[in-house]
Amino acid sequence: MMDNLTGFLISLSVALPIAAATYLWERWRLARPGGPFAKADFSGLILLAALAAAWWPYLQSQPRLIVVLLGGLGVFLVIAIVDMVGWPRVVQVLGVIAVAALISRQGISVTTVKLPFTTTFVSLGWWGPILTVVWMVICAVLFGRAASILAVPLGVATLAAATLFVVCLLEPQITGPLAPFVAITLCGACIAQVPFARLLSHKGASAGAYTVGYFIGVLSVLGALKNTAFLVALLPLIIVGVPLFAATFTYAADLRRGWRALAVAERRQHLHELLLNQGYSHLQVIGILLAGTAYLCVAAILLVVLIEVTFVLKGLFLIVAGAGGLLIFYITLRLLPRSGTDEISGKPRQVRLLGVRLHGVGLSEALAEAERFMAEDKPHMIVTLDASGVVQAREDEELHRITEEADLVAPDGAGVVLAARMLNLPIDTRCAGCDMIVDLCRVAVRRGRSVYLLGAEPGVAGAAANRLTQQIPGLEIAGYHHGYFSADEEVQIVKDIKQTRPGVLLVALGIPKQEKWIKKHLQDLQVPVCIGVGGSLDIISGHKKRAPMWMQRAGLEWLYRTIKEPRRLPRLAALPKILWMTVRELLAPQDRDI
Ligand code: UDP
Repeated sequence: MMDNLTGFLISLSVALPIAAATYLWERWRLARPGGPFAKADFSGLILLAALAAAWWPYLQSQPRLIVVLLGGLGVFLVIAIVDMVGWPRVVQVLGVIAVAALISRQGISVTTVKLPFTTTFVSLGWWGPILTVVWMVICAVLFGRAASILAVPLGVATLAAATLFVVCLLEPQITGPLAPFVAITLCGACIAQVPFARLLSHKGASAGAYTVGYFIGVLSVLGALKNTAFLVALLPLIIVGVPLFAATFTYAADLRRGWRALAVAERRQHLHELLLNQGYSHLQVIGILLAGTAYLCVAAILLVVLIEVTFVLKGLFLIVAGAGGLLIFYITLRLLPRSGTDEISGKPRQVRLLGVRLHGVGLSEALAEAERFMAEDKPHMIVTLDASGVVQAREDEELHRITEEADLVAPDGAGVVLAARMLNLPIDTRCAGCDMIVDLCRVAVRRGRSVYLLGAEPGVAGAAANRLTQQIPGLEIAGYHHGYFSADEEVQIVKDIKQTRPGVLLVALGIPKQEKWIKKHLQDLQVPVCIGVGGSLDIISGHKKRAPMWMQRAGLEWLYRTIKEPRRLPRLAALPKILWMTVRELLAPQDRDI
């Protein structure tokens, strides 16, 4: 009798140190590009070594295990060599076909198919070997296609193997003793590699992913588990690897917007690319995909438990489980925080919120952009928009044009974040101008540049400058001026700024006055970072108090400011307005992406 637990522990404990060592080796190698093994992918060897160790005591009594192992080695070698030499992909498929044909000749072959949801088997006769080859190729290729995110094929294989093991325990008379042992050892060998997968997959790691797919295919053939394997291993990978799902999804979205927007060819993204582009992190995407697979695994186990239940009830169960799964998927996507930076270009992602252009940046990303602007030393304009700013930008044509042309339009305020979340846009954290000022000054110090403060009541800008110099060692104030200046004074202010050449110009005249002022003088002033900061100088100078931290965190800063300054009451109208516009946008969407 085969000892499942010992097999699991052996494969896990063999795979873990080899995976860790491979990981370290890859890190070392990454720092030294080139070399004879630059394109080599050794991740499949970890799997083979772990399985060989766990299966060792049984190789004599179970010669089929030797066939399976040699087949795995064959798949691994074919894929790795083709990758290294750079032959066309079709050679890999031919290699998998050859291996599948060989193992099928050695008796590892589909002989019967179980009718879905029943215990009735149909004999296949000479179709068996053909079906085996087709099945094995589908398994290997589907896993191989997801190789660029190796954690996904490895994670899916771990979950699938664990599920197949449970199914074997539930249905021992159908699956026999070999399948649970292969399942649990495969589970151990895969799980150990998941934490290291990110680095192992940096070259594509298709040899590793194909090999994992091969073993899942073999396991489903050995235990007559193809239905379950399809549900828990192939279906998730079809969703990930075939852009059909994402294409259908975007196609449907396009249809809702009318035929004019149909451009499916450009939208044929894989699901993980779609999620990454939506601002989810690599880790989140892996988590989402594996959680979806785990959900399918539970459904598959329940289907086996319900094997005696009538077909209609099982169909009903599948419909409810499918609809429930999609709902959970949708809600999870809405709730997860996202980054507004494009992973590929590293630049802030542009979105359109209710027709207004915004960048999905948080504080640190906005500061990184500001630093880049300073390094370029060309005039740049940053606008921060809260809910009232967005409403104004929709209604004020000049402000709208300014936001279209600004170098960075940062979201500010809970209303904007809420509207963006409802519209599924990658804006998750607010980036208040007030929070930015101190860090912006630090960036200026680091870059050896000074800061100019313009705006607010007389005495405020000077007091704010004082506070900032006390707080930030090395800060140089190029100058300051209050915001109630005459036309003559304005000429003098512009001259003053041009002469002192600050790296940062903080303009506190309130929206939209400050944005229009900056736009008017931007090219003339030649300041690399010009930003409208609204009432922030009043707060920094200590003339006004900022809302307590808990209110800021709860997104209630607007309430505090309105209580303190009732004259701001009319601005509150922006909140229901933005909410109403958001609901309308949800019902009749316009193009949101740029
Ligand atoms: N302000 C100014 N000149 C003007 C109008 C306004 O300097 O002609 C200043 C005003 O004193 C205040 C800031 O601009 O310090 C605007 O603050 P508000 O709270 O209205 O702006 P928000 O932060 O809401 O954009």
